[in-house]
Amino acid sequence: MDVSDTAARYLPENPADLSLATVRKRARRCEACPLYKLGTQTVFGEGASGARIVFVGEQPGDQEDKVGKPFVGPAGRLLDEALTAAGIDRNTIYVTNAVKHFKWKPVGKRRLHQKPNAREIAACKPWLEAELKILRPGVVVALGATAAQVLMGPAFRVTRERGQPFDVPWARIFFATVHPSSILRGPSKDREANLALLVADLKKVAAHKAFRSS
Ligand code: SF4
Repeated sequence: MDVSDTAARYLPENPADLSLATVRKRARRCEACPLYKLGTQTVFGEGASGARIVFVGEQPGDQEDKVGKPFVGPAGRLLDEALTAAGIDRNTIYVTNAVKHFKWKPVGKRRLHQKPNAREIAACKPWLEAELKILRPGVVVALGATAAQVLMGPAFRVTRERGQPFDVPWARIFFATVHPSSILRGPSKDREANLALLVADLKKVAAHKAFRSS
């Protein structure tokens, strides 16, 4: 894909100008893929200043789109619950998404989440790469297959590799687990067990030496 087809065209030419404030501001006017027409606003990553633990989801949801902040809807609340159970303080991490606009289709009065396609994911990737370059995180945790495959390639399988540490060049260590929204969308009879599995994965993250020293 040509740079002109991606968000890379909005990044500062001079690497010295690369800062979270700059990229967040520039992302507000991104039109690198058609999703800017669907979403209310760009939902950029947010977190503690100097955060070295980064969680990456798929895309903002309905409430995130309205509020303009990542992980503030039902999936965000479930993530908070899982983080607390795993002993990870949400106030110390940075949360973001692989795609920064909400993709949806109308179903009655609801806006139903739609999975971003390969073109949209590739167009948005420069924003995520910029966030990782600026934050230089100790630990990156992908939530769900979209985020995991953006970072680790299409062969990566969250079901197979969840909760395991991977060496990567852009962080000290990488982990993947499921997206909390998959637990919410799944059968309610499985919710407790699936949440326990998410917490177990997050406990492995919190126990890793790269996490403890970040
Ligand atoms: S989804 Fe990403 S690439 Fe597409 S318009 Fe929004 S910010 Fe730009």
